[in-house]
Amino acid sequence: MEKATRQSTKEHNRNLVLKNVFEHETISRAEIARITHLTPTTVSDIVATLIEEGLVAEIGVGPSYGGKSPILLSLQENSRVLIGLDLAHNQFCGALVNLRGKIHQAISLPVDERSGDGALSLVYTILDRLIASASQPLLGIGVGTPGLVNTREGVVIHAVNLNWTDLPLTHLLEERYHIPVSVLNDSQAAAVGEYTYGKDHHSDENLVVINARHGLGAGLILHGTLFQGSGGSAGEIGHTVVIPEGGLPCRCGKHGCLETVASAQALIIQARAQAALHPTTQLPHDPEKMNLEVIEEAFAAGDPLAQQLVLATARFLGVAIANLVGVLNIEKIVLSGDMTRFGEPWLNMIREVMLKSSLTESAHGTQVEIGELGESSILLGASAILVKDYSLLFKDQPLDGERAIQMGRY
Ligand SMILES: [Zn+2]
Repeated sequence: MEKATRQSTKEHNRNLVLKNVFEHETISRAEIARITHLTPTTVSDIVATLIEEGLVAEIGVGPSYGGKSPILLSLQENSRVLIGLDLAHNQFCGALVNLRGKIHQAISLPVDERSGDGALSLVYTILDRLIASASQPLLGIGVGTPGLVNTREGVVIHAVNLNWTDLPLTHLLEERYHIPVSVLNDSQAAAVGEYTYGKDHHSDENLVVINARHGLGAGLILHGTLFQGSGGSAGEIGHTVVIPEGGLPCRCGKHGCLETVASAQALIIQARAQAALHPTTQLPHDPEKMNLEVIEEAFAAGDPLAQQLVLATARFLGVAIANLVGVLNIEKIVLSGDMTRFGEPWLNMIREVMLKSSLTESAHGTQVEIGELGESSILLGASAILVKDYSLLFKDQPLDGERAIQMGRY
């Protein structure tokens, strides 16, 4: 056998074994051999390496079904860490995340209108601090950014708020930190996060995550894989036009996009304009004081204007989801982002309008729920992309793996 082929078979087998350890809380060597069809000797050899590397440990014995009781193996979830980054509108958030998506340490810094190089410097500041505080080997950095992203090339093609055009973010971060970096659109990262760490999703499942915050987008998981479309912009529902005539201007340059009527940004703009016309509303009349927190308070207190404005955003989302369900026949829709703060009343309006706006029976089988990860879904998803590349977990992997592991020891 050629050396290269032998090497790739070895790597393939190791990834296969590790995948099974990842997918089970505990598993025995015999069980891995049964699932993977590898020989018991091959599995034992690979497991020995994994134990030596500290990735896997023997944690006890399982029940015997005749014969010797099997020794149970388990992933050592704290043996490596990753960094996940969420470049949200008002603040950039970063965290050290373990192999099971548990956040060890998080940092949030306000953006304060920074854009271009200033925004990039803020990314460096957060990463510098997180890397300095990592006590376990660091595997890589995953970034969830707003805007259009070419994930394969690691380039942010266009992010309006950040004033980034054709920014080679992966290259810049790999040059600076010498570890693998993955850059993903924020809504797509939210989808990967909810799919990987949210409620029991099956490995072959279809899932759409609607990320409703300052901007609005969707992430599509089809048969367990992130679907990015031909140009990487699949799920950009925020910029589908829903008010073809007389709609408000959108930051993308068009008018009447879904984002101008259903996002947090749209809600705040509407609340500012309408509060001026409603003297009795609880909403602040000073436009400077209008934000999601005060709208949430007024909404919870039953303020009619706040109720009307919030539920109007839900109606538009309900129609948008009905359209998605009509095209994709998706059964699971998860809502994420800070608009989810409006809770059950907002969710119920979305469900009601979705059902009313759907022609097909399929919408009746569709579950629409609020995600479980809250604001962490994006940074968790951005880092989860790296965990799925099992080869990064091995020390003797060429490229930057070796350096990645050393970095974490500083
Ligand atoms: Zn737009």
